Amino acid sequence: MLKFRKNYPMSNVTTLQIGGSAEKFVAVKSEEELQEAIDYAKQNKMDYLLIGGGSNLLVNDHGIDCLVIKNEITGIQERNGTLIVKSGTLLQNIVDYSISHGLSGLQKLTGIPGTVGGAVYGNAGAYGQTISDYITSIVILNSAKDLKTLSKDQCGFNYRNSIFKQTKDHILEVTFQLENGDPKTLQQEADDVLSKRLVKYPKGIKCPGSFFKNIVAETLPKEILDKIPKEAIVYGKLSAGFLLESVGAKGQTLDGIYIADYHANLFVNQGSGTAKAFYDLAKTYAQKVKQKFGITLEPEVQLINLPPLT
Ligand SMILES: Cc1cc2nc3c(=O)[nH]c(=O)nc-3n(C[C@H](O)[C@H](O)[C@H](O)COP(=O)(O)OP(=O)(O)OC[C@H]3O[C@@H](n4cnc5c(N)ncnc54)[C@H](O)[C@@H]3O)c2cc1C
Repeated sequence: MLKFRKNYPMSNVTTLQIGGSAEKFVAVKSEEELQEAIDYAKQNKMDYLLIGGGSNLLVNDHGIDCLVIKNEITGIQERNGTLIVKSGTLLQNIVDYSISHGLSGLQKLTGIPGTVGGAVYGNAGAYGQTISDYITSIVILNSAKDLKTLSKDQCGFNYRNSIFKQTKDHILEVTFQLENGDPKTLQQEADDVLSKRLVKYPKGIKCPGSFFKNIVAETLPKEILDKIPKEAIVYGKLSAGFLLESVGAKGQTLDGIYIADYHANLFVNQGSGTAKAFYDLAKTYAQKVKQKFGITLEPEVQLINLPPLT
């Protein structure tokens, strides 16, 4: 029996710990429960939003007038290097599983919070590796309640993007074909990444990851690129942190939101921050970047019930 909660604070289910109440909230542990929750929303003429770990969300302080469905459908199956993973599985769990089973391709994603479904939605990545690198197919549930299997090519993956940002289809199951690797070497690679990550994201930090996307350097006109020092471009991306730092964002604060003094693309809730302060601070510095460089920064974080930033 599903437990629908009324006026559920989104601050309870986001890593930023900010956000007003969802009109209704339910956690689902199976595909049948997910279907039941969707039917409930339809019967009650409510919109609904499927979330995973809430690690990439900025939710309006006034909340959301809909049913929020938290995906807790988990499970990992493996056959000869093929991993079939339910979308509510924590990303860290498949990273750990792949390392201990000598499967290479996910180890650099260690430390990224959230679920496999959320990671696929935003094509999450770090240190030159992305979740989509070794995906072969994805099972989705679409708005017509059809289950479909999409090949990787049908998922429209590119930098921090997938077709699911447009279709809003629900990602149910993800299949990866990984390469063979030595567990000790893979663990060492993951440990190296994790020690770097812990400097940027100390344990318990209240944030949604990097706020803005980096910019794929080859999409920028030459006259803009000529003004950018080479070291600001890493893995082919111009760092949004560099641009924000150049307009003085580091260390700035507004009503409980703080921009890290060591990374200008990291906006942190100091405890009493609001979505409004977060949004206003981000908008101020995005506008300064636009004025100085002519570059429009695009949020990586999903804005829930907030107007587009730029
Ligand atoms: C400390 C910290 C460090 C981070 N580091 C990184 C990093 O290095 N690289 C990186 O890419 N990201 C990073 N992030 C951002 C975030 O962790 C990732 O984007 C993560 O993959 C989001 O997963 P989630 O389950 O939390 O998604 P949520 O935040 O719950 O949801 C994000 C979006 O995905 C949609 N969604 C979720 N599940 C599904 C599903 N099953 N089907 C369809 N749509 C779905 C939601 O509707 C929402 O629009 C970091 C975040 C934090 C807090």
